[in-house]
Amino acid sequence: MSPDSARAIDGEVDVNGRRYRLPRQPTVVICIDGSEPGYIERAIEMGRAPWFGKVLETGTSLIADCVVPSFTNPNNLSIVTGQPPAVHGICGNYFLDPETGREVMMNDPKFLRVETLFPAFQRAGCRIAVITAKDKLRGLLGKGLALGPGKACSFSSEKADQATLGENGIADVPELVGLPVPDVYSAALSAFVFAAGVRLMERDRPEIMYLSTTDYIQHKHAPGSAAANDFYAMMDGYLARLDALGCTIVLTADHGMNDKHDAAGRPDVLYLQDLFDDWLGAAKARVILPITDPYVVHHGALGSFAVVYLPESASAEEMAKKLRDLPGIEAALTRQEAAARFELPADRLGDLVVIATRQKVLGTSASRHDLSGLTEPLRSHGGVSEQKVPLICNRTLAPGIPSRRWRNFDAFDLGLNLVT
Ligand SMILES: [Zn+2]
Repeated sequence: MSPDSARAIDGEVDVNGRRYRLPRQPTVVICIDGSEPGYIERAIEMGRAPWFGKVLETGTSLIADCVVPSFTNPNNLSIVTGQPPAVHGICGNYFLDPETGREVMMNDPKFLRVETLFPAFQRAGCRIAVITAKDKLRGLLGKGLALGPGKACSFSSEKADQATLGENGIADVPELVGLPVPDVYSAALSAFVFAAGVRLMERDRPEIMYLSTTDYIQHKHAPGSAAANDFYAMMDGYLARLDALGCTIVLTADHGMNDKHDAAGRPDVLYLQDLFDDWLGAAKARVILPITDPYVVHHGALGSFAVVYLPESASAEEMAKKLRDLPGIEAALTRQEAAARFELPADRLGDLVVIATRQKVLGTSASRHDLSGLTEPLRSHGGVSEQKVPLICNRTLAPGIPSRRWRNFDAFDLGLNLVT
């Protein structure tokens, strides 16, 4: 869709086929990475999250479906475009580029096929702030924004000290926030996102703000655990401050999170490349794990979603059937079946899409996964078992809004159009 498709009419903005009212007060959409339903509720029960407690009672609290694959980048891009990956094109962190035949990261903004809501709101006169934990998302989320003081900023906690007016529309971020740049593997990386969001809201009052955290805590700690409760207590404090500043706040998640280990605490892995090497001969098929990214320490590149490229001689239907007979396989679909069922871009999938059951993850070859960084029993995501996520707003649903299958990418619709 060309940028011209977005236009402001009577205080509304049309973008990617959806219409949004311009914000009447600053509207903050927050993607809590890996926030499986239960984290917030357990923290409330333990008395650690009074703001969440109040909002769940008096605001809007829905359960929504995220996009499958239930991974970070596809879902963040769905939230900020209002559309599934079939429209925006980002269906993993990592894929086989059909144009080059090479396996590459999908975080280059050139892979994004439509614009996000942010440039459209910017053209309508809104000031925009986008803050992410990891830098890998910043390029995609900030695409098309005119960055600069009084206009828009887009930066990450991870590289907060490297932010410049030219690249990020803001400089001296650690000084502004009053915190040092956190370690990339830490809860502090997400805390910095919130601290920066609150400071920017106090100082600049942007009309549209998007905050996106990292799932470092959720990969290691289940709902109700001490570390998880500490994390949600941290968030609760910052959210109360944004609320006090008059913001409409919408919270959702990119995906849920489940235990993926056996009774002994070992990752429960089906190594697909080894399996296909057995079935078709060594290296005839090529298994790609779209969870792969440069930050694999806390999940060892093990998730519940994989794609497989088959040799000409193999039939996708037959291989899918063979896979479905195995324990631990939730779905094995041909490219077209997967594209239709999960609203994915068919040209960026393999011949097969494989999804594991709730407790299981998919690997390539046992020899290619370094699991030495897994200091806790594996928790991960990627499948349909991690599709349920919270969709919460600190305002009440407007009267007469019919119930529907809520998606996490309804977050801006909810905050701008559907609440009082
Ligand atoms: Zn995530």
